[in-house]
Amino acid sequence: MDFNDTPEEAAFRAEACAFLAQHWEPLAPGERAAGGEPDTGSALEAAQSWQALKYDNGWAVLTWPEEYGGRGARAIESVIWRQEESSFRTPSTMVFGIGLGMLGPTLMAHGSDAQKKAHLERMARGDDIWCQLFSEPSAGSDLAGLRTSAVRDGSDWVINGQKIWTSGAHYSRYGMLVARTDPSVAKHDGLTYFIIDMEAAGIEIRPIKQISGSSNFNEVFFTDVRVPDSSRVGGVGEGWRVSITTLMNERASLGGGSSYGLSVDDLIRLARGLEIGGRPAIEDSAVRQRIAEFHVRLRGVEHTGNRTLTALSRGATPGPESSIGKLVTAPLGQQLASFAIELQSMAGAAIDDLGAQHAYLNAPGIRLAGGTDEIMRNILAERVLGLPPEPRADKGMPFRDIPTGAATG
Ligand SMILES: Cc1cc2nc3c(=O)[nH]c(=O)nc-3n(C[C@H](O)[C@H](O)[C@H](O)COP(=O)(O)OP(=O)(O)OC[C@H]3O[C@@H](n4cnc5c(N)ncnc54)[C@H](O)[C@@H]3O)c2cc1C
Repeated sequence: MDFNDTPEEAAFRAEACAFLAQHWEPLAPGERAAGGEPDTGSALEAAQSWQALKYDNGWAVLTWPEEYGGRGARAIESVIWRQEESSFRTPSTMVFGIGLGMLGPTLMAHGSDAQKKAHLERMARGDDIWCQLFSEPSAGSDLAGLRTSAVRDGSDWVINGQKIWTSGAHYSRYGMLVARTDPSVAKHDGLTYFIIDMEAAGIEIRPIKQISGSSNFNEVFFTDVRVPDSSRVGGVGEGWRVSITTLMNERASLGGGSSYGLSVDDLIRLARGLEIGGRPAIEDSAVRQRIAEFHVRLRGVEHTGNRTLTALSRGATPGPESSIGKLVTAPLGQQLASFAIELQSMAGAAIDDLGAQHAYLNAPGIRLAGGTDEIMRNILAERVLGLPPEPRADKGMPFRDIPTGAATG
């Protein structure tokens, strides 16, 4: 492991810092960077204007090729940029994450020249926000079991069905959708991938109220929605292959091992300000032990992340360690928030100055999104440890013959 920047990386970091300092104040000690999705129109506008400024100055999509507005930078430079950006008071640009991190790379790999020309620059500049229309009520972990159908009608496709958990559908201009175009073949073979204009007739978006009080994701219903064949990405029946590109990029963007919600420093500050038995909580041995445990485990994740960074810095492909970040960090974030609430006793449930309640209620979603804990464990077991794969009873079976839970007779 090498913790130091190379001279080239140090120069890049200095350039990034200089640009950021021209536009934003650095965060004060203990202040957290803006995170999450904008919940007001003005927050969305602030995110879009910051994205446009980054784009115009070459900082928006560093690793994209120059022809699409990027710099062709190395992955390590993108990591350095994120590290520096998160130490300034910039607006959160998380709304662009799905487009820039997952859908843009998919379009570059599988889109037609016309699709790339129409969408990539606007996506990179933040002019259009994109959403991912993959999951359905009975197809999440088993995405290839999806039932939304696309039927050919002249030069159009007609889409019917329902998607769910679609983050940002309510403010997205476009979406990427996978639909079943042939139920007579095996489930992975009958899928096709489309660009969807979210303003098309027949699309209904219903927000889902989350336990945290936010409504970041939605149900999206499609009733006879017409999509031109020119919006198909990849060949008919090649939707699974195209989706894999999206999913690989999703895993890569989620696997960074960043901490979610509170930090150990937040816990230390909290314990300094509270009392147990008339003495500062930070002096209580049980409290100190829990905080120390969190510190050790988070440092473990951080160092595992550093192995990935070292590989990136050397131009190598990160090894299996990059699969572990999300699996370890998401539950850890939940335990950390739970401890912060517990430490405040009844006040922990009543007051939320620290954001612990929000972090706690948000954590289960993080453990599900982009692959649940169990699915991440399956991936590690099969692809990293080489354990036998799960039995797949429907392998090769035509999709329409796969038994469903529907009542018969
Ligand atoms: C915050 C958030 C944002 C999201 N945003 C989007 C989005 O923008 N677009 C989109 O398309 N989707 C989105 N999703 C959906 C997400 O991809 C799915 O929730 C996820 O894939 C799990 O699918 P599911 O919810 O249908 O659960 P299921 O797949 O039904 O799983 C239910 C339970 O069974 C377990 N399980 C399932 N299969 C196995 C197995 N083979 N072995 C062991 N255990 C198993 C799971 O781990 C889980 O505990 C989002 C979800 C969340 C929480």
